[in-house]
Amino acid sequence: MKKYIRLLVIPAALWALSMGLVLFSGGCTQSTPDTEPSGSLPPESTVTPAPTATREPTVTPAPTATPEPTEVPTPTPIVINTDTSTVTYLVNREFSLPEDFVPEGLTTPDVLFPFSDTTIDKAKMTPEAGAALALLFNAAYDEAGLTLYGVSAYRSYARQYTIYATNLATRGIAHTNRYSAAPGRSEHQTGLAIDISCASEGYGLETTFADTPEGIWVAENAHRFGFILRYPKDKEAITGYNYEPWHIRYVGTELAGYLYETGLTLDEYYGVPSTLSAEYLETTPFIDTTAESYLSIERQYK
Ligand SMILES: [Zn+2]
Repeated sequence: MKKYIRLLVIPAALWALSMGLVLFSGGCTQSTPDTEPSGSLPPESTVTPAPTATREPTVTPAPTATPEPTEVPTPTPIVINTDTSTVTYLVNREFSLPEDFVPEGLTTPDVLFPFSDTTIDKAKMTPEAGAALALLFNAAYDEAGLTLYGVSAYRSYARQYTIYATNLATRGIAHTNRYSAAPGRSEHQTGLAIDISCASEGYGLETTFADTPEGIWVAENAHRFGFILRYPKDKEAITGYNYEPWHIRYVGTELAGYLYETGLTLDEYYGVPSTLSAEYLETTPFIDTTAESYLSIERQYK
């Protein structure tokens, strides 16, 4: 039995040996292409991570970081600002100033006016707004050769009362509420607003100012100096006032730039578009029309 097994073992071993040689030689030929790339792998592996490592930190974070800050200055939690020690506070038909409010330091800005006595109220603004106005007017001249004029800036509560009451007495409630602010509800009482014009408009306040080179330049550049066009076209229902391309309001460059970019009005920015209906504005005077002060004005026009 032992011999028989040995006989069987020997040919099996010979077969296995020959097969092993075949396999071994096959393994050699197959391993050759492997060794070639594996020999070139080290250089690849040292090359690849290096560029990706340098590219990623320099390219990716830098550009994404720059656009974000320009979009972000959305001063986020917006609370209606009625603090008159700031320049961004809201005055409109629904948010009014007290009767005794007079802005501090009212002074005449170093700009042109179409009248000679520049010591009167309507030539005055707060120092900050007035300085910004001078920069705006100077830039209009230096950059575009345009000459702007200040027409009407600060207006006291009492003066606004007279204007409003006069309009009521002569033109009726609907017209008055469309064009004129009630006392305490005019931006002119802030000392931060001014009506402006130019010679070709006869220094008047008409919507045609918007189509003059001066009006176009102001609409495009006022924000650079901290001013907004307070009563834009097609925003009448939001502001509660007709389009007034001549009325600019100082709010500082940050907010002015934001409102210019977004196209928002100050009312929308604070989330308080006018809630007064057209019917209300056409029928309701903002002052007591039975009061003696109103009646005395009304009598002058009868
Ligand atoms: Zn105005």
